[in-house]
Parts: sequence; structure tokens; C-alpha cells
Amino acid sequence: MTDTPASPPLRLFNSLTRRLETFEPVHPGEARVYSCGPTVYNYPHIGNMRAYVFADTLGRTLSFKGYKLTHVINITDVGHLTDDADAGEDKLEKAAAEKAQSIWDIARHYTEAYWADVKALNIRGPMKAGKPEAAHWSIATDYVPQMIEFAKAIADKHCYELDSGLYFDTSTVADYGRLARHATDEGESRIDPVDGKRHPADFAIWRKAPPGETRQMEWDSPWGKGAPGWHLECSVMSEALLGFPFDIHTGGIDHREIHHPNEIAQNQARSCSTDSGARIWMHNNFLVERSGKMSKSAGEFLRLQLLIDKGYHPLAYRLMCLQAHYRSELEFSWEGLGAALTRLKRLVALVEKARILRMAEPSEQGATPEEVFSYIQMGEFESAVCDDLNTPKALTALETILSLKKVPATARLMLVEQMDTVLGLNLREITRTDLRIRPKATTLSEEEIEAILTRRKEARAAKDFATSDKLRDELIAAGVEVMDGDPLGWDWRLEA
Ligand code: AMP
Ligand code: ZN
Repeated sequence: MTDTPASPPLRLFNSLTRRLETFEPVHPGEARVYSCGPTVYNYPHIGNMRAYVFADTLGRTLSFKGYKLTHVINITDVGHLTDDADAGEDKLEKAAAEKAQSIWDIARHYTEAYWADVKALNIRGPMKAGKPEAAHWSIATDYVPQMIEFAKAIADKHCYELDSGLYFDTSTVADYGRLARHATDEGESRIDPVDGKRHPADFAIWRKAPPGETRQMEWDSPWGKGAPGWHLECSVMSEALLGFPFDIHTGGIDHREIHHPNEIAQNQARSCSTDSGARIWMHNNFLVERSGKMSKSAGEFLRLQLLIDKGYHPLAYRLMCLQAHYRSELEFSWEGLGAALTRLKRLVALVEKARILRMAEPSEQGATPEEVFSYIQMGEFESAVCDDLNTPKALTALETILSLKKVPATARLMLVEQMDTVLGLNLREITRTDLRIRPKATTLSEEEIEAILTRRKEARAAKDFATSDKLRDELIAAGVEVMDGDPLGWDWRLEA
């Protein structure tokens, strides 16, 4: 990107210190990021996808700042129990049993559904063999031998064996739970006790298969047949793919309480140090929905596909996420999504207008005073994203640039393109027509609507207003709004 004199340093909120810190990479010029990924036993809900929009925005910002990015996102296809602690069943074994399918089929199906959402939300990466490639997607079951080696390396000093498995003794590492700040209460109170555990916060590194039961996913280990504990995979894959220590570890705020403190404990045990494994730990806050539709157990839940079926372009949801700071809770509502869609349409309309103006402009010759002024706006944008990814402010800077009539359209578009490398709204490609609301349950096709509108135009030209009004009413009854004078012409009405 353009090297402006006032290029600000990137400052990020580190959950470990609860402070804003300047990003200083472990390897100069590089950024290595690990994001806890989906457990593929069901479709991701839109709250889960907020976590990846956040991780993607972080990755895009690091690239924008000139760092060579390596971004790993794991796919959990083993070990995640139904209650995040050490009681309950493996989520994938349970889903496979309920659906009478092989666990591998279940994992493949939901991994592909996740990647479809990733693609729809423009989470970065070219598609390669059907999956998005910007990030490196690591599959937990590909790393089981390494997990066993890791467990063997820490077993003597940090673990103890029970009938149900090998457990990590959290009292063997310094300041366990520092990340969660639960200094013995809060987070730990959520952990169900397992018979024989020395401390409620101790967790399974290896879960032995229950006697007499055969699981679909089982591996031999020094502690008998079984499967790895969920927390192990992230310590193993982050070290294998990013080295130790690496730069940034991300996840949803719930992971700050159990999963990440446990990863840190493992990392400390493995490295015989107090190093947490990542320099900065970042957590996105939750997307909340009051009526409980976000719960995967509640039948129909809020999947991205549901938004698409109701006619919303998925990037409206991305914009909705960017309108809130990642550390703030975001409340989902259909009205809010509708407003985000309208905002996106306005942005796209401004880009389309600037493109038309650009055609009439002479080709650029050096920076004009107006462009210099616009770079100041770029500075505002950059300051916003460098201030712990303040995307709400960055969006405003983008809108300011787009509406600055004094700045040549060529310069405006150039800046918008750079800004969009961070925001990922695909402003270079989407058109207002792409953003047209497209509800699945419509009775008319777009071609039929266009045909009615043509007839209406003819009726109006012939001053046959009765027919024209009748056709308009016909469209209204089918849920179509006719927008006379708007270049888009028509759109489906949004139901609240
Ligand atoms: P899971 O597939 O349940 O392991 O979750 C995947 C990611 O989504 C994790 O980083 C979670 O912390 C995050 N997450 C879960 N629920 C929400 C939510 N409602 N809002 C934002 N992030 C969430
Ligand atoms: Zn993880």
C-alpha cells in the first residue's frame, strides 16, 4: 500500500494482558496466526461465522500492513465433547449415531457447508479443489500421531492416568487460568467434575474408549485405545504449522474461559516455560439473538443459508459484523440486517457512480492536491483499522472518501479498492443487482417481473394508467416493490 508518512503501528487488544499492545512479529515481516475453527458436527450458525469474519479481518489487516501472512484455521473432527468440559459425548460420534452415518461422512458434509459459508462471506482465499485456500485449514484427525507424541512428552511431569483417560494436572504449570482471570472461580465453576480428577480444572489429554464400546474414531496409544482430548489439537497444530511461539491466536470469547487456558497450560508444559505459545490472544465477542434461534439444538437455527433463503445477500451479514467492533456484543435482528443491506447498496451505488465519472476523467498525472487530501482520509481509515481493528470507524472513512466530490473519481476508486482489501465487501465486483433481495419462497421469477414491468412501461407510454396501476398492484401483491426513478427499478419488499 501507499507509504504515507504517518503510517500508524498496528495495535491489538491482548486478552492475556487485557491491554492494547503494538504488534511486533516473532519473525520480522511475517505474521503467523492461528484461529480456532469449527467443530464439524452440524452447520455453523451465523454467530460462529462472526468469529471467522473477525479472524479474516485480522488477516486482511495484517496483509494490508505489509506482513507476509500465514493463517491456520483448524477443523475439529474429533474430541470436542458436548459440554466443553470432560463429561458428555464426542459431538461427532453423537451426530453420527443420531443420523446413522459414518463419522467421516458427517465431518465431510459439515466441513463443506462451512466452506460454502466462508466463500459466501468473502472470507479470504481463492478456491482450490472446492475449498478456500487463503488460510491453511488443518484437519484435527490428520494430526493424531503428533498429538500422541505431544502427550507422551508431557505425561510424566504434567499428567496422571484415570480409568477414563490421561488428565492434565493444572497445578503443574504456573498461573493456570491467567487468560480467563478465573483465579479459581468463574470459568472453573462451569467444569463438571470427573471422578478422580485432582482438581476441577484438570482436563483430558487422552480419552480412553469406554470398556466394551467401540467408537468409530479410535487410535492406539500408550494409555489404551481412545481419542485425543479436544484442547490438544490446537497446541499440536499451531506448533507444527506456525512454530513456537507464534504471533496471534484467535477464537470466540467463550474460548477465553476453558479451551485457551488449557491450550496455554499444554504449551507451557511442552516448552518447559511460562510462554503461552502466542504473543497475542484475541477474542471476538458473541453475536446474540434473544429468541434462541442460534442454538443448534433448537431445530431451525440461524444459518447463513437461512439469511440467503430469505433474500439477503450474504455480504450484508459481513457488513453487519463490521459495523460493530469485534469486542462488542452484537445483537442480531432482521431489521438490523435489512439496514446493513441498504448501507451496502448505497456503497455499491456510490462505487458504480464513481466508475461512470472516472470514464470522463483524463488519465492521472501525479498526485493532485485533491489526491493528497484523499490520502489523509486513507490515513483515517488506516488509523481506524490499526486501532484494534476499529471497523465501524473504517467504514465511515470509506463512505467519506466515496462521497468526496472534490476528489477525482479515479483516486476515490483507487482508495476504495485498497480499503476493501481490509473490509472484504467485494466492492470491485458486486453490483446493485447482485444485492437485489432474492427470497427463495417467491412466486415470480425475475424474468416474469421484468416482463410485467415492460408491459407497465408500454401502458404508461400509451397513457393507459388503469393498466399501469393494475400491473403495479399485481407486483405489490407478489411482494415486489416498484421503485420508479431508481436505476435498480424494483426489488423485493423486506418482511420485518
Ligand atoms: P464451535 O464450532 O462451536 O467450536 O465454534 C466455532 C467458533 O465460533 C469459536 O471460535 C466460538 O468461540 C465461536 N462462537 C460460538 N458462538 C458464537 C457466537 N454466538 N458469536 C460469535 N462467536 C461464536
Ligand atoms: Zn482451539
